[in-house]
Amino acid sequence: MPPADNGRMDMLNDPALEAFQGEVRTFLETHLTHELRNAAARATSVFIAPAITLSWQRILDTRGWAAPDWPAEFGGPGWSEIERYIFAAECARAGAPGLAPMGLKMVAPVIMHYGTPEQRAHYLPRILSGEDYWCQGFSEPGAGSDLAALQLRATPDGDDYVLNGSKIWTTHAHFANRMFALVLRPAKASRRPGSASCCWTWRRRGSRSNRSAPSRATMNSTRSSFDDVRVPQANRLGAENAGWSVAKHLLTFERGGKYAPGLIGRLERLRAQAVADPVLRARLDREAVTLRALQALEVKAMRGVGGSAALYASALKVLGTETAQRIDTLACDIEGYAAWAEADGQTPADLAVAVPRYLNDRAASIYAGSNEIQRDLIARLMLG
Ligand SMILES: Cc1cc2nc3c(=O)[nH]c(=O)nc-3n(C[C@H](O)[C@H](O)[C@H](O)COP(=O)(O)OP(=O)(O)OC[C@H]3O[C@@H](n4cnc5c(N)ncnc54)[C@H](O)[C@@H]3O)c2cc1C
Repeated sequence: MPPADNGRMDMLNDPALEAFQGEVRTFLETHLTHELRNAAARATSVFIAPAITLSWQRILDTRGWAAPDWPAEFGGPGWSEIERYIFAAECARAGAPGLAPMGLKMVAPVIMHYGTPEQRAHYLPRILSGEDYWCQGFSEPGAGSDLAALQLRATPDGDDYVLNGSKIWTTHAHFANRMFALVLRPAKASRRPGSASCCWTWRRRGSRSNRSAPSRATMNSTRSSFDDVRVPQANRLGAENAGWSVAKHLLTFERGGKYAPGLIGRLERLRAQAVADPVLRARLDREAVTLRALQALEVKAMRGVGGSAALYASALKVLGTETAQRIDTLACDIEGYAAWAEADGQTPADLAVAVPRYLNDRAASIYAGSNEIQRDLIARLMLG
């Protein structure tokens, strides 16, 4: 049998870490409102509406905790890996909404690494405060797994680049006022990685007012078209034609990360229900064991031991998303079983969340690079 308290961190034998955990718990008890907790519990997508996530981000920002993974020099709290992990685990246990990753977790570390001092000074504080809300413009019609097939052209013209082409599947583009995108220099047009693309940032007009609007939409599966869109060359990240390096750096942050804390929190809530069926209970126990292993792997990845960042990113993406999908199935089975047992003809609220969440999470093994592609990358990284 797995231990009853699956959320407890094994590494907490240290009084300083226990004190830190207590400080985080007290903060969450005081500041995480019922409204935010409830909105997170009802969320059916990993991408929660910005009206919710930004209000939680602002509360965290006033405490200096909006970006736990950022170094102190850029406005992060300067925590150790274990403190960051404890913070994530406590937020998940308390049912806090997950923050939008595109700014804080994806483009910010890339700006820290490749950005000029001016770009860092300008963009990072605006990401922390939520003033800028980012989306990711990598995929194009015909360029998903094969990103080297991208077609969106960036033609230099004076101090600008002029963009023509289209992007697709741009999650939360309808809320964002900025996009980071991978584009192609026409003169260097080639399918050879490393020679033909750059990364850019720009401001979209007229998008900010959408943010507070309630919306069930998550991504934009229709095309976003760029017809002679001018972007200052000063908005390029990294050297010209070095976009592949920038993009690969970014993808390790998109794919890797901490899947276990959120899933442990979710599984704990499922286990807290009085599930009588022994088969369902056994499946809950099995996932608890799997999550322990995933947690251990994530801590190893954060410490940078036993493998490269790219290897961990791909491995955690596969393990994290597939475990999430099994837990989604389990949640539907448990809530469906409960609904059948009650049999009053109503769809219970928990089932009304579990089913759309199950459907939404089917996409998790596709976005950020499909799991088939991740398996291929793992094979190449491990076997050469
Ligand atoms: C909900 C959602 C949100 C998204 N959000 C964003 C976003 O915000 N920004 C963004 O840029 N993109 C986003 N995407 C796009 C996502 O990154 C792509 O869908 C993904 O990379 C797969 O590309 P594709 O859809 O073109 O499928 P394809 O590349 O056409 O792949 C189709 C199938 O073939 C398989 N396949 C392809 N090539 C190989 C291979 N070499 N070996 C083995 N199998 C292979 C794939 O695994 C997949 O199962 C999102 C997608 C979804 C579904």
